Parts: sequence; C-alpha cells; structure tokens
Amino acid sequence: MSVPRKVKAVVADLKKYRDDVTLYRLKPELPVKFRPGQFLHLALDNYDPSYNWPESRVFSMADAPNKEFIDILVSPKGNFTNRMISEISIGRQVWLKLPYGTFNFRGSAGKDVVLIAGGTGISPFISFLEDLAESTDEYRSISLFYGVRNSDLIIFEENFKRYVQEINSFQYKVYCEKINNKLSFSIEQGILPIKGLVDQTISFTNPVYYLSGPKSMIECFEKELKDKAIPEERIFYDKWE
Ligand SMILES: Cc1cc2nc3c(=O)[nH]c(=O)nc-3n(C[C@H](O)[C@H](O)[C@H](O)COP(=O)(O)OP(=O)(O)OC[C@H]3O[C@@H](n4cnc5c(N)ncnc54)[C@H](O)[C@@H]3O)c2cc1C
Repeated sequence: MSVPRKVKAVVADLKKYRDDVTLYRLKPELPVKFRPGQFLHLALDNYDPSYNWPESRVFSMADAPNKEFIDILVSPKGNFTNRMISEISIGRQVWLKLPYGTFNFRGSAGKDVVLIAGGTGISPFISFLEDLAESTDEYRSISLFYGVRNSDLIIFEENFKRYVQEINSFQYKVYCEKINNKLSFSIEQGILPIKGLVDQTISFTNPVYYLSGPKSMIECFEKELKDKAIPEERIFYDKWE
C-alpha cells in the first residue's frame, strides 16, 4: 500500500456543468500513485512543511491511475467547495495529499459486480472502469446504476458507451430526475429505485455491491441489502458526508 505524500499541483484544466458542478484536471508536480477507488485531500492554501497541513476536503479520483493528470469531480456544498468554485481558475496552484481509502475492486475479480452511484459518487467507478478497460482483469459481469438530479449532469456518457465496447459483460443504466436535453442513449426517469435494483441483481451469483455517493442514498441501499440477507463482506461503500 502506498504511503500518502503531499504534493503541489496545478489546475491544468476545468469544465463547469450545471449547478457549478466542476471537473478539475490537476497536474501534480511529482508522479503520484493510487488505486482505483481511492481519494485525495485537496487544500487551497499554501502548505508550509514547518506548519500543519491546511484546511482541506477529500475528493475521489475520477480517472485511471498512473497518468500525468488527476481528475476530480466536485459538487459545491458548503464553504470549502464554494471557495474552490470561486477561487480556482486554470493555472491555480493547490496542494494534494494522497492516496487514501480502502474502496477496493481487485478482490472482486471473477465475480458479478454491481456499482451504484449517486451524483458525483460516480468518480471512483470511472477510475475503476477506466483502469479495467486498459487491463486484462476479468469480472463475471459489471452492472452500473447511476442516478443524477438533472440530465445536464450526466458527465461521463461517452465513457459509458466506450466501456460497453471495451469491457466484457459491462452494462449500465442511468436514472435521472429531470431530463432537459436530448440524449444519445436511453435513460430512466426518476430516482434510483432502491428495492427494484436490489431485487433485480440479487439473483446474480453472489453479487458484490459497491455503493458511492450521498450518505442518505448509501444508508437506504445498505438497509435494503441487509434486509435481503446480503452479507456485509459483499457490501462496500464510500459514504460522503
Ligand atoms: C471518501 C469521500 C470521498 C468524497 N469524494 C467527493 C468527490 O469526489 N466529489 C465531491 O464533490 N465531494 C466528495 N466528497 C465530499 C467532500 O469531501 C465534502 O465533504 C463535501 O463537498 C462538503 O462540502 P464543503 O466541505 O464545502 O462543506 P462544508 O460545509 O464546508 O463542510 C462539510 C463538512 O466538512 C467538515 N469540516 C468543516 N470545516 C472543516 C475544517 N475546517 N477542517 C476539516 N473539516 C471541516 C465538517 O464535518 C463539515 O460538516 C467526498 C467525501 C468523502 C468522505
């Protein structure tokens, strides 16, 4: 396991979506290591090694490891993330501390994997799927269910279409509360149907569930899975406050 290191980075690019949801492309000064599913700490203020680490928040990597850049997708919530939105432009320096987290997909190779993401909770799954598309690892099946508030926030639709071609037995379904643009793939209107998704996937062979996104969404899925007697060791989650 890699020891976390502190590294300066520059914001090389950014793309803004609806509600100021922003995809940041960060270029670390030195090469950094992480596994798909891990997260980093991002600080806006300068880090002086003779003082404490400045205030920071954690964000999941949204791209395969071992690249020149690190992508993170941020949905502004409170003071810190709103500061990011107002202060960060291309070329801004930030500090990163990584890698962190134990959300690990490797142990599920060969199995039926169910990925459930809410909003920006998609990031660790993009990291996993990008990495998988380039690797020889095999899973029995991978089913992604992704819920977003608004169709303008389906940020990785081109990736999903590519994964269908590149990853064996990959399928996905997107659920959207409000559809305002024309989409080039089919979508279900509404929120992620918790009971329906569990009923639909429980008949797979010992499915392993990965949940990522808002705390309330995770807790509802977790309860439904436990009510259906899915053992704890087959439920992994990245619960965001
Ligand atoms: C594992 C994990 C991965 C995550 N990945 C993402 C991601 O990819 N994209 C994304 O948009 N969000 C992600 N989040 C959520 C993100 O880290 C922020 O918590 C969230 O955006 C809240 O926004 P905020 O900090 O602006 O809100 P704030 O209201 O400023 O703070 C939210 C919480 O942060 C804590 N906090 C407040 N002040 C401080 C302080 N001075 N120092 C330290 N902590 C403080 C408190 O617990 C507070 O309730 C992730 C969270 C976790 C746990």
